[in-house]
Amino acid sequence: MSAIVACITGGEVHRQWQEGRLLGEQIGPRRTPFGNSADIFLVEGDGEPFYLLPRNTGGQAKPAPSRVNSRANIYALKDLGVRHVLAWGPGGAVTHNIAVGELVIFNDLLDLTYLRDRTFFEDSPLGYLRQFPVFCPSLASVVCGVLDSMKLIYHSRGTAAVSEGPRLETPAEVRRLATVGAEVATHHFVPEVFLAKELQMCYAGVCYVVNYAETGSRHRPFMPGDLFGGLTQKSEHERLAGVIATISRIVHKVATTIRKGQMDACDCHSTMQANINEYDLSNDWREWFTGNNGQG
Ligand SMILES: [Zn+2]
Repeated sequence: MSAIVACITGGEVHRQWQEGRLLGEQIGPRRTPFGNSADIFLVEGDGEPFYLLPRNTGGQAKPAPSRVNSRANIYALKDLGVRHVLAWGPGGAVTHNIAVGELVIFNDLLDLTYLRDRTFFEDSPLGYLRQFPVFCPSLASVVCGVLDSMKLIYHSRGTAAVSEGPRLETPAEVRRLATVGAEVATHHFVPEVFLAKELQMCYAGVCYVVNYAETGSRHRPFMPGDLFGGLTQKSEHERLAGVIATISRIVHKVATTIRKGQMDACDCHSTMQANINEYDLSNDWREWFTGNNGQG
């Protein structure tokens, strides 16, 4: 059994695996020229199978976002035959049009990170790629269709501001993000989205909104001991938990839709074609790294 869809998530879905709520087999970590990937699971069960790659396993085993080895993770998924990556991550609402517990499907982002390996091709010209569209619109459309069918509340477009973390943003930083058009503040999706493009994979980013960024009018007092220091209320926690519990069902449905051939054509699988022509690259993508920072 194999799959062509992968789900990258935080530790929450990994917990569902640990608790036996997801069925399948563990097939990773896997070795790559860029180091070892995170754990990878082939999730079977109610629908088309998919690979699950948690960026962390929760608890103490939760590295800062900048410490996640995204190059190894994306390489490992490509090596398994994955063509479509559906990535999930938490974020804070910058605009008041978005509420805690809602989903936002990103169509654009501001990359404010500075510690991460953003490319597979540091020593070659292959990473000079256009970022339009940033996320795969066809995969995003499939996700919207599934969310419609499940009657979940979501925003079909949104601009993410991806900062380095792990700390949350200051009030002044959030005010600046709002003025430049960011709608959600998050620490995830970068550099995954850029790396997936370099390996010609579809990538969609879905954010589950866990709090309101420090935007002033929704200011809440600091609550010692609370995960987000009081930024999220109990009812919002419950709504959020309900959304997170549905992630695996959503991905199964997305994978089933794609397997049935019901996803519109996109250009993601030819993003490197100009480079392939220009530099006479091998048809085997694994050979693109030879002589670069990969050890292939
Ligand atoms: Zn695509």
